[in-house]
Parts: sequence; C-alpha cells; structure tokens
Amino acid sequence: MKEVKKYLTNNNCYKSNKKMSLIKGVMVHSTATPGATTESFVKAWDVPKPNGREVCVHAFIDDEQIVNTLPYNVRSWGCGGSGNNNYIQIEMCEPKEVYFTSQWEYKSKDIEKTKQFINKQIEGLIEFIVNRLEELGINEINEETVTSHYEGHKKGIASNHDDPRGYLSLAGMDMNNIRKLCKERMSSKNKKVTSANGIELITEFEGLKLEAYKDSAGTWTIGYGHTSGVYEGQTITKDEAIEFLKQDIKSAENAVNNLVKVEINQNQFDALVSFTYNLGSGSLSRSTLLEKLNSGDIEGAADEFDRWVFAGGIKLEGLVRRRSTEKELFMKGYQITEDSNKDEENESTEDSKQFLIKVTAGTLNIRSGPGTAYNVVGKIKDQGVYTIVSERGSWGELKSGAGWISLNYTRRV
Ligand SMILES: [Zn+2]
Repeated sequence: MKEVKKYLTNNNCYKSNKKMSLIKGVMVHSTATPGATTESFVKAWDVPKPNGREVCVHAFIDDEQIVNTLPYNVRSWGCGGSGNNNYIQIEMCEPKEVYFTSQWEYKSKDIEKTKQFINKQIEGLIEFIVNRLEELGINEINEETVTSHYEGHKKGIASNHDDPRGYLSLAGMDMNNIRKLCKERMSSKNKKVTSANGIELITEFEGLKLEAYKDSAGTWTIGYGHTSGVYEGQTITKDEAIEFLKQDIKSAENAVNNLVKVEINQNQFDALVSFTYNLGSGSLSRSTLLEKLNSGDIEGAADEFDRWVFAGGIKLEGLVRRRSTEKELFMKGYQITEDSNKDEENESTEDSKQFLIKVTAGTLNIRSGPGTAYNVVGKIKDQGVYTIVSERGSWGELKSGAGWISLNYTRRV
C-alpha cells in the first residue's frame, strides 16, 4: 500500500515537536467516524486543536493509502494516556456504510463491502506495523509491541475507549489475528535467499559441465553438480545450470534460515549457504561455527571457516581457497557501526549536502538501501550522532558507507 507524507504542520502536537522517550511499538485505533477518509482527516486535523481537542496521530489508513501525519519519533496525542510516550499510533478510517450502536457494537449496511474494505486495510496495516518495527530493530510481535487503544486502556496507559475492537469484529478480526499476521509477515520477510553475488561465489568453486557425466559414485551429473533427473546424453546451457544450482541450494538456504538464530547480513548468509551447500546441513548444525555465531561471536565464527579444509584427512588446496573466500565475504560489511563512529571524529561538515543527525531510537537498523525492502546490514545502538551524505524520501545514507537509515528516528543536530 502506498504511504504518503502529509504532516499536520498546524497541529499543536506537531508544533510542540516533543520526542517520544522510548518507542515500544505500534498502537492501532479506529476513528469511529464512518465515511471520513484519510484525506478528510488530514484536512480536519491540520489545525492547532481539531474541534478544540488535543488530538494527533502518526498515521491514518483507509483501503487505498496510508498518510503519515506526524514524524514517527514525535510524541502524539493519540490515546489519552502515558501510551503517547511510547507508541506510534495509527487510525483505521471507517467506510461510510458502517454504523454503531455502542463503542464496540458495530454494524454495516453492506457487510460484504465492509469486509472487503477492512481486509484491504488490514493488509496495509500489517505492512505498516512490520515496517515500523523493523526500522526500530524490534523483532518480537506481542501485546507490548503491537497493541490497540482498547488493550492500552486495559493496561492503564490509554483512555477508556474500545477501538478498534468493534470495527475489526465486522471482518471477524481482532488484535490477536493482527499480531499473528504481523508475525507471519515478519518471518516471511526474514527468510533470505542467496544473492547473485553468492551464486557467483558458489559457481566459482563448483566445476561446470554442460553434458551429463557419471560422477565418481556412478551418478549421472550435470551443470554445477546437479543430479536430480539427469540422464545420459543430456546437455544444458550455462543459464540452465545456474537455474539447477538455485534449486539445489534451496535446502542449504533453508538450513541457514532455520539454524541461524541471530540477525545476519546478506554477505554472511551467502557465505554460510556456500559453506552448507559444500559440506551439508548436518555439518553446519553440528559446527562450532554455528554455535559461536548464535552466541553473537561473529569473529569467532569467522575463524571457524578455516577448519573445514580437510577431505578424508587430507588438506585440500581447493577447500582452503573456498573457505578463505567464504570467510572474507562473511566479514565484509561487519563492524560498520564502529567504523562510522570513527568517521565522525574527523568530520568536516563543509559539504552543504551533508548534515548531522542524532539517532533517537534505542536501536535503529542500517539497511543496504533506502527502504525496509532492503536487507538489514547492521544496527546503531548508541543513539549517536552520524553524518548523512544523501537523502532519498525519508531515508539517509550514512557517510561511512555502512548503508541507509530511516530518518524518521533521528533529528538534525
Ligand atoms: Zn483510539
């Protein structure tokens, strides 16, 4: 779903520009104003005090778009309680055929149409929640990280409102369903696949044969060691060989996705897939390399590559080269946050396109490109000051070359 930025610059909440002390997650509301679209709210709330009330949220969503109305690190006037200090708040706009007899008893004059509207809206909402959490480096979906006005009230951090309980019920949904969908979305996003760079590394070390041959065990083999469905006399092109390889490395990719419990970057993933494709997933699962990696010892894990160079008790030159290439790739781009700190010390801010920001989130992901679709390649945890050299949308590129960060969780200094 498209997201557009239309800050409510006349709203006193926007003007106060008070930052949230700690962002714990996202709080969901529904407007209880059937027929009012995202656009009508942007218009109505872009005043100091809409209808004389102190109200302002970070975003509105209908079945077509999300409008971001307040920077994500600024404290909103969303839930009438201390939750305003800790939650990014989004309002679900309600379609005009909806009406209610009490705060949570919702009805619709056209229930099928309403269900369609809500389902589309929820799709966008899930994307919104997962993107915000990912920007914040929050990997857990639970009642603390994804909550509603109603649930906030029960916890004593929000005023006595029932939203969006009644509205969601029209589509047979509740907050638990929303959290489940967020979880699914997050885990499917976190399943990595080998990059073109990783495929190239593997092909470098796997011999290529475009005609079927019998391997040392007498199995018909073709391409980069592909054996499934291969027959005598079969010939393929190099592109087909790469397609076979992509199928064959799937089990290695699954093994790495399932066995590695810590966040790794694309280079580390590619190196581990090459390693696992070569040695088998059993070797990875029993390895000290995996143990060290999962305990957070990246450098210790990297050194373990050097040990896997023997076949039948003999050290093989080919394996030595392969492991050292994998190790190099594994370490590429690591420790970036420390490097970026170092850069700041020798900083010159004369270049007018550059500017300094201070990170306001407790943890902020660094990504390989300007958006949450790009891989996480590091994290900033020090709420430090960094130099941005270029901007795309609400994303800024770090001067260190480490990657991109969401500027929504920073402020200019
Ligand atoms: Zn509410």
